[in-house]
Amino acid sequence: MQAKKKDFSEWYNEILESAELSDKRYPVKGMNVWLPYGLKAMNLIDAATRQYNEEAEIEEVGFPVLITRNQLEVEFEHLKGFEGQLYWVTRTGKEQLDIELSLRPTSESAIYPMFSLWIRNHADLPKKVFQICSVYRYETKHTRSFLRMREFRFYEAHTAHADFQDAEKQITAYMEIWSKLNSLFQIPSVINRRPDWDKFPGAQYSLAVDSIMPDGRTLQVATMHQYGENFSRTYDIKYTDLNGEQRYVSQTTYGMSERLLGALIGIHGDDKGLIFPPDIAPVQVIVVPIPTEKADVNAYSKKIHDILKSAGLRVKLDLRDNYTPGWKYNYWEMKGVPARIEVGEREVQGNTLTISVRGIKGKKTYDLMNLEESVKKSLKEHFSSLSERSGKVLKENVKEAKTLEEMKGQAAYFAYWCGKRECSDKIEAATEKPCLGVSVSHPGKGKCIVCKESGDRSMFSRTY
Ligand SMILES: [Zn+2]
Repeated sequence: MQAKKKDFSEWYNEILESAELSDKRYPVKGMNVWLPYGLKAMNLIDAATRQYNEEAEIEEVGFPVLITRNQLEVEFEHLKGFEGQLYWVTRTGKEQLDIELSLRPTSESAIYPMFSLWIRNHADLPKKVFQICSVYRYETKHTRSFLRMREFRFYEAHTAHADFQDAEKQITAYMEIWSKLNSLFQIPSVINRRPDWDKFPGAQYSLAVDSIMPDGRTLQVATMHQYGENFSRTYDIKYTDLNGEQRYVSQTTYGMSERLLGALIGIHGDDKGLIFPPDIAPVQVIVVPIPTEKADVNAYSKKIHDILKSAGLRVKLDLRDNYTPGWKYNYWEMKGVPARIEVGEREVQGNTLTISVRGIKGKKTYDLMNLEESVKKSLKEHFSSLSERSGKVLKENVKEAKTLEEMKGQAAYFAYWCGKRECSDKIEAATEKPCLGVSVSHPGKGKCIVCKESGDRSMFSRTY
């Protein structure tokens, strides 16, 4: 495998193929096939997303994939943002459709006409829904598995509130959902408020979670938008307030996608392959018997496997007899399995087990009596080492810059910025790093790096 530090891009392509996450040979460009191992990981991400939405009282819905041209054209600014990327369905069999239909690029224009039917009075608010579905955008840039696709797995939450203040609380709630998710993922990231010229079409403002990839460039992995009344006025989403007056709702959205999986792979993996955090690992524990004539290693391994399985762990037993134990170690390391249990003659005779933790050197031997406990302890060790490495990535890759000259060395920097486009244009021209906006997660005040007027800590970075 390609060394990750030397050529991240090449390493990423190789690992996706060797670990069998997705298959890009499907005949439609930009649309990959999800392979079982990749889909398992994505489903675990989705399961966590569902759980945290449930806790935040955002309810799951399922909307059709097709949207009429009329639904889309209601909000012109929003449509303009996607115009060139829409897939149109115009024919059925030989007949031309009388209404042109588009595959959803995101679901504002699918959901909001229904909101206007569902929301009648203040008791219907807040209305909070989400869906996990595929969306379609005709990307003209080079497509890349999980990072930039024409069909991709999308999570989108949409909420409607009695007023702007209540909608603002929802943005805070979104950030809490992100923080819960990221406590599982450990993706080094910064939340930035995008400059006005770079916000989502139709939004009052947009927050984005920018993750720091190993080469220092950033990858946007989640966005949260405050719509205010921009959409409710065009989609006519009104309610009767306590005084009997008609008012427009204020709205928000939160979006994430399979890019999260791309980020997890890119950030945590190493030269041996993937490294999955335990909560997202399709296989958490692999049991590998070391064949010998002196003991029944397979039966002993099976016993270990069954105990762990009934304890609720995602465990697999590798009994393939056409591969050596060493080959299997490499194989499961490449697949990013957090813990490996080796079972040889010594283990069977001593009633013990030997555990290796992915990303940590050395092995430890435990008593079989403490099987479940030792495995859980090993998964914790794995998670702490991964989280420690991830913390370092942010520190090392996003340095604080005081001058434009200082901003040339690496891919991402924090710098104080006054908020004027003039200044961020100057920064971009001098450093080739566009402005990602004022940092919400790492706030600070100082003098603008260009004009010296008062400014906020902001992020400038090359992006994916
Ligand atoms: Zn300035």
